[in-house]
Amino acid sequence: MSSGSPSHFRQQRRHASFSFSSRDFSTGAPKGKRILVTGGAGFLGSHLVERLLGTGHSVLCLDNFSTGTHHNLRHLGERNDLTIVDHDVALPFDLGSFDEIYNLACPASPPHYQADPIQTTKTCVLGAMNVLEVARKYNARVLQASTSEIYGDPNVHPQRETYWGNVNPIGPRACYDEGKRCAETLFFDYARTYDVSVRVARIFNTYGPRMRPDDGRVVSNFIVQALRGEDITVYGSGEQTRSFCYVSDLVDGLIRLMDSPDSVDAPVNLGNPGEFTVGNLATMVINMVGSRSSIVYRPLPIDDPRQRRPDISQAKTRLDWHPKVSLQDGLAKTIDYFDLLLSAPAPRATHELAHEMEAR
Ligand code: NAD
Ligand code: UDP
Repeated sequence: MSSGSPSHFRQQRRHASFSFSSRDFSTGAPKGKRILVTGGAGFLGSHLVERLLGTGHSVLCLDNFSTGTHHNLRHLGERNDLTIVDHDVALPFDLGSFDEIYNLACPASPPHYQADPIQTTKTCVLGAMNVLEVARKYNARVLQASTSEIYGDPNVHPQRETYWGNVNPIGPRACYDEGKRCAETLFFDYARTYDVSVRVARIFNTYGPRMRPDDGRVVSNFIVQALRGEDITVYGSGEQTRSFCYVSDLVDGLIRLMDSPDSVDAPVNLGNPGEFTVGNLATMVINMVGSRSSIVYRPLPIDDPRQRRPDISQAKTRLDWHPKVSLQDGLAKTIDYFDLLLSAPAPRATHELAHEMEAR
């Protein structure tokens, strides 16, 4: 692949089907596995890419930069074992062979995935098909970043993988919820029909550094509001619950799931089973930041789930995984990150912040 971009990343900017030889992916001697990460420039994806590179693998990051950014990867520097391709996963692609594929491409924040709901459905469904076709062609193992939204507004608590969910198929969240449900269907149909080796992670609310300040999800919203001394916007009464997982724990779970034997042949919940009301979270953030922000109440979004808590017994027994970072510790790291980001006189690039935080 040629180096056509002014950026220090090697990139391709094409929006039709294309291919390049495997030789082009890594010009150095191959080490570790060749891994495709779609959505690798996003919040979770960038942490995953960093971890995979750190353990000796070569990574190709495919991203259309709709919610992700080059800044999330820039601290990794220019290197032979990382290639970045600008492409919409909903359009077919052939980038040569891979040993493993992590399919993370999709906006995860409700305001972002609802901004262009038809594109969100295409990303979930067509994106899954395109990724699965690549896995089928090159015999790659493929992991889907699915979601607790599969369970919708759950009538079973905590949520086990065997629960089929309670999703409104025509509401404003459906583009994401039903898109992700259809993606799971495709993953297991490709496994049954073509013997593709699939893994499906049902991820519960995950937070940490490199979330965008305008991401819109609750943890980043509350921290940014508290640091700025703005009102903390609690939607509804604040009695709805969520379970919050720190990003390093989640990445560890994704890699363990990918490395698991084929006998792990059903979706696996990944999340922190600690359960907090949104009101609890607001108070915690205000206290930890030492903010004078007030809590204000705003209308609850349509179809907002009332409760969420993962049953992680499958992840514990089959992956030997459980989250290690408490909400208090994870929030402290995330507050540090946003504090640096927001206190800089000029907008700060996230790669500079990553360096500063590592140096601490
Ligand atoms: P994010 O928005 O930060 O990252 C998504 C990445 O995908 C971005 O880099 C974006 O530019 C890219 N992308 C979006 N549409 C694309 C397309 N059509 N083609 C190529 N790239 C595209 O979100 P995140 O929190 O990092 O989530 C990553 C994945 O994990 C998503 O699939 C999401 O559904 C899933 N997930 C995340 C959470 C969470 O709490 N963070 C929870 C459940 C599931
Ligand atoms: N929420 C809130 N204030 C905000 C953002 C979100 O009260 O500024 C609520 C939201 O209504 C939901 C919960 O926090 O009940 C978690 O929202 P988030 O967008 O983080 O993720 P979800 O789990 O709903 O996809």
